[in-house]
Amino acid sequence: MTALEPTGRLQPYGIMVADDTARVFDAIAQHGGQARYVGGIVRDALLKRDLHDVDIACDLKPEETVIALEKVGIRVVPTGLKHGTITAITDAGSYEITTLRVDVETNGRHAEVAFTDSWFADAKRRDFTFNAIYCDPDGTVYDPFDGETDLREGRVRFIGVAENRIAEDYLRILRFFRFQAWFGRPPIDPVGAEACRKGAQGLLDISAERIREELFKLLRAKSPAGTVGDMIGFGILPTILPQLARTDCLRIMQWLDSTALAVPAIRPDPLRRLASLFVTGDNGADDNLEAAEQLARALRLSNEQTERFAAMVSHAPLIDPNMSVDDIRRDLYRIGADAFRDAVLLAWSTRASVPPRCSRQENEEWKSLIDAATNWQPVKLPIQGRDILAAGLAPAGPRIGELLKQAENYWLDHGFAPGPDDLMAYLASLSKAGEQETQ
Ligand code: ATP
Ligand code: MG
Repeated sequence: MTALEPTGRLQPYGIMVADDTARVFDAIAQHGGQARYVGGIVRDALLKRDLHDVDIACDLKPEETVIALEKVGIRVVPTGLKHGTITAITDAGSYEITTLRVDVETNGRHAEVAFTDSWFADAKRRDFTFNAIYCDPDGTVYDPFDGETDLREGRVRFIGVAENRIAEDYLRILRFFRFQAWFGRPPIDPVGAEACRKGAQGLLDISAERIREELFKLLRAKSPAGTVGDMIGFGILPTILPQLARTDCLRIMQWLDSTALAVPAIRPDPLRRLASLFVTGDNGADDNLEAAEQLARALRLSNEQTERFAAMVSHAPLIDPNMSVDDIRRDLYRIGADAFRDAVLLAWSTRASVPPRCSRQENEEWKSLIDAATNWQPVKLPIQGRDILAAGLAPAGPRIGELLKQAENYWLDHGFAPGPDDLMAYLASLSKAGEQETQ
């Protein structure tokens, strides 16, 4: 069997009905090819969710697809030509177009592929039943492994023998849990999960970047804590990221960031959720910082991510729901509203995850810290080094910086109230006192 039989229909919407999408499909058809949606877009359309990336399977060889598209003026990028994938770029969005293919040789990380004209062979090499559903531009659905039933029943099921499919590509272990977090209904499929446990060692050869990407996708699901718990229970995280060893804090974090707090600046955030997986409340700041840096290296986080991550885990232990208004403002001034919110959320989740948890009153106190960040208007020290120089309080050089620091402390101690004249007067009084001392 090489062709697929239609099994149902769906009503196209969103990017599926964009003019540019029709141009892509028409260009391929005019060149004698056949193209169908596949993967995420079909899965999401069956669930009537928002549609994002468009994956298309096509029976033209990649070079032919490029010719077909360029002929009608569509821009093409050869993203993964060796594996049969090119990307068409239009105003409406981009389209990943992959030639029907089979994996002829696999080593757990990469596959050597061969092109085929068999839609069924192409379906069989895909990972899960609901990722191998195809759809014509008019909405005709082809679902060779009854993935739609699995999708509706929340079952992430490998196509073929799970253990074999994992040995072909160990990244599928993480994809299994990622799709479980997004589409699965607990309990997790024990056959798939056991196969993942057996194959976990294979993940040690997968690059940190690919692991990070999958983990972040998983952590973007609305409520991933249960699945992360499965990843710990089935030995996946203990094998690759033993620092991620608790989910109680993530349970609170996911509730705070996606349900409890109606604050526009707060949304599910994979990095913050990651922090909630290993931070413990009574760790010292130094311990937290070291663990954070180790994890950042293991996942090859970018410099920006590493800094943000380190900032939140080192700052969270310093947050106290009863902080004085002055201390809150001092923190907001020093680290900014975003970093302060990160630290508060992390501290709050940590605190609320251990008995006796948080009373309603305590939750209100935590919430008031978040409100302080929301209402914070950034302020700037009202004097600069050149003012000190002009007033003749110090010559050009390091002394200027020292005086600025002193002015800043004074300004912070007085609730940002002193203006430029007050600060200059304060500095003048300091230097007078200094002169008297040296006399
Ligand atoms: P999303 O784009 O929402 O992350 P997706 O299912 O579209 O999800 P992609 O990574 O875009 O995932 O892959 C597109 C399709 O390619 C998948 O649906 C699946 O059929 C196939 N696929 C991707 N990665 C693998 C893999 N490692 N093993 C087998 N099939 C895969
Ligand atoms: Mg996709």
